[in-house]
Amino acid sequence: MNLSERDRAVNWHPYTQMKTADPVIPIVKGQGIYLFDEAGKSYIDAVSSWWVTLHGHAHPYIARRVSEQLHTLEQVIFAGFTHEPAIQLSENLLKLLPENQEKVFYSDNGSTAVEVALKMCIQFACNTGKKKTKILAFKNAYHGDTFGAMSVSGRSAWTQPFGEMLFEVVFIDPPTPENLEETKSMIRKHSDEWACFIYEPLVQGAAGMLMHAPEDLSELMKFCRANCILMIEDEVFTGFGRTGKLFAANYLQEQPDLMCFSKGLTGGTMPMGITTASKHIFDAFLSEDNYKTLFHGHSFTANPLACTAALASMELLLKEETLKAIETISKKHQTFSEQLMQHPKVENVRQTGTILAWEIKNNNHTSYFNEIGKIVYRKFLKRGIIIRPLGNVLYLVPPYCITPEELDTVYKNILEVLTEV
Ligand SMILES: *Cc1c(COP(=O)(O)O)cnc(C)c1O
Repeated sequence: MNLSERDRAVNWHPYTQMKTADPVIPIVKGQGIYLFDEAGKSYIDAVSSWWVTLHGHAHPYIARRVSEQLHTLEQVIFAGFTHEPAIQLSENLLKLLPENQEKVFYSDNGSTAVEVALKMCIQFACNTGKKKTKILAFKNAYHGDTFGAMSVSGRSAWTQPFGEMLFEVVFIDPPTPENLEETKSMIRKHSDEWACFIYEPLVQGAAGMLMHAPEDLSELMKFCRANCILMIEDEVFTGFGRTGKLFAANYLQEQPDLMCFSKGLTGGTMPMGITTASKHIFDAFLSEDNYKTLFHGHSFTANPLACTAALASMELLLKEETLKAIETISKKHQTFSEQLMQHPKVENVRQTGTILAWEIKNNNHTSYFNEIGKIVYRKFLKRGIIIRPLGNVLYLVPPYCITPEELDTVYKNILEVLTEV
């Protein structure tokens, strides 16, 4: 049996209808923007392997740092103990975040980072003797696949079997100058009841790379601040340079109370989640009363290997050449998006920094299960490029090490595939 057949016998893949899915492609090696299959065929990873890879695959510097750490300390219980990589990572990260962010809580992935933030907000209300149970989120939001994260995500095919068991959330439209007043008056009606507002800043990734303007989000955030509504900024996708700045927060004029990170945090090397909190939140858990403790933790909280990968990745991210590369990708995307806009089969071209998205016009079938997505996905694979559409939405989220020439190759292939569909 080859790898693909052995896989079929034992593995259950994520977001995959196992009955009808194409055979999976066994990858045996990664290097930079390339992945290599069993037969030696190369693929440009234009979606950063589900948006996680920042500096390319098997980066030698991250590999060396993690390998050294592996021989020094691989894991230690994080209750009652600590270690240099976790301290250093918290220090380095907090320096880059909005200045009100003061404490770092570690977990394992984006969903857990969101769970922790939600629990902090709900317990914050408890600890401060307030009854606040309502939660605000954006329509079509995506915050992860665990139950709390699903609850604050838009209701869709993904959440449908669990509908009755998800807690109630009030969904609002992402802000525009037209809808802001209406949203504010709705929020005002229940002003004392909001436990928190959770949002993906600037780009709603899994919704299909939907984008809103920083000015409008800033205004909504200022309104929440004025009404004492805690804000959770989910930067699991937008963090670490994707939007053209280090964080989407750098575009905004108001600071959130809590922030969530994962995906690019370790450069895509190891799973890890982080929730950061302001002093205001943290202080509400300080008490002689044991019931005010945050009773949350995971076996691998602040795993030293993951912390080291994150430290190495952040070092690479802050290098002059990486920041320049992010700028170059953003500029090239902008030029290419003008070309895309002229294309008769393309609509709704949008871009924020290194994230470029557009839709294929397709007889109004704009659902996630859109066939056109599967068709173009296969066409790109054949050409050695990984572009995994969300329904009829195609997007690029490349690792920052992609060269202008490689990016041109991707663009050229996109235009060719578009003429074929
Ligand atoms: C991917 C994602 C998550 C969930 O992260 P996982 O690591 O997949 O659990 C949460 N929020 C946003 C904005 C995401 O894009």
